[in-house]
Amino acid sequence: MERTAEAVWRNCLSYVQDNISPQAYKTWFLPIRPVKLQGKVITLQVPSKFVYEWLEAHYVKLLKSAITKEMGSDARLVYSIVMDQESAHLGTSNMDIPSANRGPIENPQVSLPARIGDDGIRNPFVIPGLKKVHIESQLNPNYSFENFIEGDCNRLARSAGYAVAQKPGGTSFNPLLLYGSNGLGKTHLAHAIGIEIKDRFPEKTVLYVSAERFTQQFIDSIRNNTKNDFVHFYQLIDVLIMDDVHSFGGKEKTQDVFFEIFNHLHQQGKQIILTSDRAPVDLQGMEQRLLSRFKWGLSADLQRPDLETRMAILRQKLYADGIEMPDDVIEYLAYSITNNVRELEGALISLLAQSSLNRKKITVELAKSMIDKFVKNTTREVSIDFIQKVVCDYFDMPVELLRSKTRKREIVQARQLTMYFAKQLTKNSLASIGSQIGNKDHATVLHACRTVSNLTETDKRFRTYVDDIRKKLTLA
Ligand code: ADP
Ligand code: MG
Repeated sequence: MERTAEAVWRNCLSYVQDNISPQAYKTWFLPIRPVKLQGKVITLQVPSKFVYEWLEAHYVKLLKSAITKEMGSDARLVYSIVMDQESAHLGTSNMDIPSANRGPIENPQVSLPARIGDDGIRNPFVIPGLKKVHIESQLNPNYSFENFIEGDCNRLARSAGYAVAQKPGGTSFNPLLLYGSNGLGKTHLAHAIGIEIKDRFPEKTVLYVSAERFTQQFIDSIRNNTKNDFVHFYQLIDVLIMDDVHSFGGKEKTQDVFFEIFNHLHQQGKQIILTSDRAPVDLQGMEQRLLSRFKWGLSADLQRPDLETRMAILRQKLYADGIEMPDDVIEYLAYSITNNVRELEGALISLLAQSSLNRKKITVELAKSMIDKFVKNTTREVSIDFIQKVVCDYFDMPVELLRSKTRKREIVQARQLTMYFAKQLTKNSLASIGSQIGNKDHATVLHACRTVSNLTETDKRFRTYVDDIRKKLTLA
């Protein structure tokens, strides 16, 4: 039998009643009307925005346990707020969304602006003027400016970020695009800007979202026929932080919708912060009009930190965790791991784990023995011979075939894959790759690289080959 909203709410009420004072119960809970139960979503009508805020501030835990007890742990609560006779506003409770995916799209109705429906009737759930209920910023408090070590490698990006945080939307750094290779602090800095803005301007809606998540939300909105809600939601943000925009490459529809949102926000003087793993000119598969927008503000790069900065970063992490480590070990780590900060942190963590698991003192010797393994695993350059062997093993064919003149399809394919990976993973020129793989010329290698790229995009099975082989090559 279908349960009604009334029946569910009645049980919730009796639970609530058992857990709070009669006065509080009467004041805050009795006026609530259950209005709808749809699947796992219960809609409660509250008499005012004030009551709604009070409930969320003081009774969200209680409501959560009452409702999950009745409806299960995936239950959702939506508020309908009565403003006057004819208009109400939908708000979503914070209670039910685990913070990991407490994202905007789970609750796109949170704060839609006034909207005219197709038939010209105002959406009854929306009050013009009343905007934000509450949007979780998705900011990681550990990624603050305080924890971000400044060095020559990041000075421009950091100070531009800091300037933006003092005056979001009010500098010429809009958008601010932070770019640089993996593990150099883009995501950290982007969060730091968001945190600083939230501190200074608590009323501003700040949202951090990765481009990948944005893409997924967009796809979902198409499927659920809620694209308008999706766009409106993003258009309400005051400070939009979009991480890893390079992943928009080749996704035209997502680029279109982001373009629309970007323009809207920019026109309203809202701040946009982007990160990318390469400079705008090097972004591939990106529409020209979007690229040109990316270049409107300031692009600032993050580079590999120098030795002193690496040491300062290590010291800061150790300090934050309350761990002491001899200076010579810190120096040794910083000296040995040069590529990026994520690897540096990884080495530090391994070293700490080694010492505590084996009850060994942290010494340079211990660091050395660990780093030998660590560095070998991360920064070894693969040889063309090795690539040939891995590819042939994968297709179970002898290496000689690859070097022969045969034009059999499978062999041509294996040869092309070898050339492709040789280009990607070694520093050899096209000509040198060709000469080592079946004595081909540079044009053949170039053609092979293009073919592999194209096939990877269009042919699912081929893509699996590429992914599998890449794993074998990089994890070996
Ligand atoms: P990216 O987004 O560029 O790949 P992240 O921002 O995720 O890199 O940084 C990787 C790790 O390195 C994070 O744990 C971050 O806190 C740390 N990190 C990077 N740069 C700095 C810095 N300048 N000061 C302190 N920590 C840093
Ligand atoms: Mg990142």
